[in-house]
Amino acid sequence: MRIGYGFDSHEFKAGVPLKIGGVAIAHDSGLAGHSDGDVLLHAITDALLGAVAAGDIGGYFPPSDPKWKGADSVVFIEEAVRQIERAGYTVGNIDCTLIMMRPKIGPHAASIQRRVAELLKVSPAQVGVKAKTPEGLGTEQTAIAHAVVLLIAKREEGERTLMVAEAMPQQVVDAEVEKVLETVTEPAPKPATPVKPDEV
Ligand code: MG
Repeated sequence: MRIGYGFDSHEFKAGVPLKIGGVAIAHDSGLAGHSDGDVLLHAITDALLGAVAAGDIGGYFPPSDPKWKGADSVVFIEEAVRQIERAGYTVGNIDCTLIMMRPKIGPHAASIQRRVAELLKVSPAQVGVKAKTPEGLGTEQTAIAHAVVLLIAKREEGERTLMVAEAMPQQVVDAEVEKVLETVTEPAPKPATPVKPDEV
């Protein structure tokens, strides 16, 4: 298992579309940045890369490179997922905290959770999305995101499945085996060898 942590912040800018966690949110301002400014996807990208000690988002997508101007941050997440897979890991779970005064994240939290889960190839139950207002931080014009991720080695994941199977009562295991066997289709019987007329 490996743990990773990521942080990011972007300033709100009027007239820019707002995207958080890969979800477009209707608001009077968006997040300024070289890419689409998706503060959450950037924090998650760094958490994933950090977990496998594979550098950071700026190393893969330098803001100085015009190629990434206005880029969809989904590209960054996809690269980070490739890096963890290359290192032999898969996402166990992830937890995120967004801090901003406006807009309210609550109504969008479920969509963000589903989208992030899709990007990380996990189920929404493996993605925590929480939001807070910046009480006493003086960051009313800023969106902040923190993300922590737990990665599981693909080998460990197999072992964990085995452990769960071993912990099952025998009758549950038998019932599961029965279900699998029912789905297995019998191979089609070989056609009978035609009998030649002169052998009759
Ligand atoms: Mg950023």
